[in-house]
Amino acid sequence: MRFADRYKTIQPSGLLKIFQAAEKMDEVLNLGIGEPDFDTEHDIIDAAAAAGKKGFTHYPPTRGYPDVREAVCNYWKRHHALDCTPDEVILTVGCLHGLYLAMRAMINPGDEIILIEPYFAPYVSMGEACGAELVRIETKEENGFTPTVSDLENAITPRTRILVMNSPCNPTGHVYSREKMEEIAAIAEKHDIFVVSDEIYESMVYSGKHVSFAALPGMKDRTLTMGGMSKSHCMTGWRVGYAIGPVELIKVMDFIGTCLTYGLNTLAQKASAYALNNHDDKMILRKNLFEERMNYAAERLNKMKNVTCANAEGAFYLFPNIKNTNLTSEDFVWKLLEGSQVATIPGTAFGKSGAGHIRIACTRSMEVLAKAMDRMESFCSSL
Ligand code: PLP
Repeated sequence: MRFADRYKTIQPSGLLKIFQAAEKMDEVLNLGIGEPDFDTEHDIIDAAAAAGKKGFTHYPPTRGYPDVREAVCNYWKRHHALDCTPDEVILTVGCLHGLYLAMRAMINPGDEIILIEPYFAPYVSMGEACGAELVRIETKEENGFTPTVSDLENAITPRTRILVMNSPCNPTGHVYSREKMEEIAAIAEKHDIFVVSDEIYESMVYSGKHVSFAALPGMKDRTLTMGGMSKSHCMTGWRVGYAIGPVELIKVMDFIGTCLTYGLNTLAQKASAYALNNHDDKMILRKNLFEERMNYAAERLNKMKNVTCANAEGAFYLFPNIKNTNLTSEDFVWKLLEGSQVATIPGTAFGKSGAGHIRIACTRSMEVLAKAMDRMESFCSSL
């Protein structure tokens, strides 16, 4: 069969190979999975069913029901001091779909998108699918995997169109400080760059508060804030995301989305509005549980031979440094999986700067995490 040129040579990703190998093992403890282990709360499911029974079973407005977009605005105002109106919001099929619509809306072939390593890998395939040139900024652990001013200045060219930010970050778990964000904001303003700020982990910040990039002075008009229900409300399977940004951009994203999905599942929309309006307390309880797990795992990792791990800052990821084992990230991950049945992800899956690190998702119970840490400790001692 004939495929489009860009898809002629696709290979299964390294990640897929790890997950497939892990699936075949009986006793595997999987710390690779980037989704909360909690099911969606039942009253959220009831809200979806109630909406169905009220007749919300027809095509929705393509941008999303106004009350749901309003719930998004209220949530961001309440939690992150971001002022927006429903006109500035579009609901998408997960944050991923929103990211794609945004790139499609803004990128001409040859335009440049700046990615900060280590990054969430789908940014690459989406950017490439839109014909963008990807400019990767390599970063260092000692700088919290954030770019310096000169790193950013050097990456900018007349073709730069978008800078993608992601705080709290997948895979490092790092949370950008307000000062660092202000530094980046000044550069965005100086060079007239648009920022796509992926804030899907906004509800999981363990020290201080999440700073929303668009809420920084002067940034709202040049920022698209991406969020969603997957992580904050344990609703990965419902596929609800949203983007908040300038009305003219939202309109173009809506135009593109209309021919792809014609809006978002009606029941998932209504359940999301209910969750956004009623679940702050439960969300905070879960955040505390994740923090407890992250602190526990970081402490255990720091006691392992040849492993160091930065403190938990945000999201549910730790990104320990395993360079002193003299194994590459890939070798470490495969040996740990095959020898000790613990699944993790090599740092290099997120760009070159992830070399010498592995990603651990604290998305398992304390009991599972403790067992996995025991196995990993023995594994590191045996190297
Ligand atoms: N952005 C980041 C940084 C993520 O880690 C993920 C999921 O892991 C997503 C976006 C996708 O989120 P969604 O489930 O809303 O599509």
